[in-house]
Amino acid sequence: MSISKIWLSSPHLGGAEQKYVQEAFNTNWIAPLGPNVDGFELDLTSYLTQPIFVSALSSGTAAIHLGLILLGVTKNDEVLVQTHTHNASVNPILYQDATPVFIDSELETWNLCPIALEKAIKDRIKKGKKPKAIIAVHLYGMPYQIEVIRAIADQYEIPILEDSAEALGSSYKGQKCGTFGDIGVLSFNGNKIITTSGGGAIVTKTVAQKEKAIFYATQARDQAPHYQHSEIGYNYRMSNICAGIGRGQMEVLVEHVALRRAMHDFYVNLFNAIQGVTVFSTPNDDYFSNYWLSTILIDPLKTNGINRETLRLALEAENIESRPLWKPMHLQPVFEKYPYYGNLVAETLFENGLCLPSGSNLNDEERERIAEVVKRVFG
Ligand SMILES: *Cc1c(COP(=O)(O)O)cnc(C)c1O
Repeated sequence: MSISKIWLSSPHLGGAEQKYVQEAFNTNWIAPLGPNVDGFELDLTSYLTQPIFVSALSSGTAAIHLGLILLGVTKNDEVLVQTHTHNASVNPILYQDATPVFIDSELETWNLCPIALEKAIKDRIKKGKKPKAIIAVHLYGMPYQIEVIRAIADQYEIPILEDSAEALGSSYKGQKCGTFGDIGVLSFNGNKIITTSGGGAIVTKTVAQKEKAIFYATQARDQAPHYQHSEIGYNYRMSNICAGIGRGQMEVLVEHVALRRAMHDFYVNLFNAIQGVTVFSTPNDDYFSNYWLSTILIDPLKTNGINRETLRLALEAENIESRPLWKPMHLQPVFEKYPYYGNLVAETLFENGLCLPSGSNLNDEERERIAEVVKRVFG
């Protein structure tokens, strides 16, 4: 195909990244530690503007895994997790030989449904086991119902692991996502709002937790001149090269959030006059979304049968990437044997929802190509 591909979300560099990477070369800090790692952690800490501690890791998945370890999740524990998510929210539960218990979404934020969550907690307790943690996700950058979920977690004294992999730059009542959980998680994968080519971070409340996270992330070395180990460790620290990219990306984060939000506005205008299509938007002004991905729901009963596959295939024919919303985890072959509490919301989202090109680096010509397909499909 001769026309260039329009991606859902591709890396968007600001320019300063290479300067920090060059510094790493100049000073021979080519290792999973160094001034860029420290600098990137400081940049993130000051951006999040809360009394928190950030540790840079090799991926968001590693951060979720270490988060579960810090919360004491071990073999046969149960962990509540929203079903409408990336599988990386769930896999680390299995790394710990624990059991995921899947929770449906609500329709305002598409994240944890408080009713299903509380029902699950009560039922798991009745069956003999209180869940050890709640993994709450800000999907597509949309904050979950922060206060309601926190109230339930506190009532039953279950800690929250906040999966903010998609929500750096989002906030709720002015407080940044990534700082609401007992532990928070960020990702800097290539498709996220900022990238380090691959990477993540764990956000903790105390310096002791940060030290513990780094201990596990660097092979669990005890204090000794030789290599001494009394626990199992991991090789999860971020490299100083990747952290250099991260420092450069932090310089453009605010601008990139604004550009993603402009993409969302573009879709709101584009679909404004089209019956049966809704652009997913914040429920009220307490919520601020980075709109990492712009997403829509199509109701085929109101569009003369045009559904998300009609649009997806039409976009694909023009070399434009789009993707159905997350297929619920409790429907995935690898997870279908685990408990699930819900009411078909995540199933409906998967059936009718589509993620659209959302990158901060899309230009007018690309937006025009997208608009042409949309206008043609919906006549
Ligand atoms: C990307 C993502 C992760 C995993 O982050 P990686 O850095 O790719 O390991 C976890 N949870 C969600 C919701 C994600 O989107």
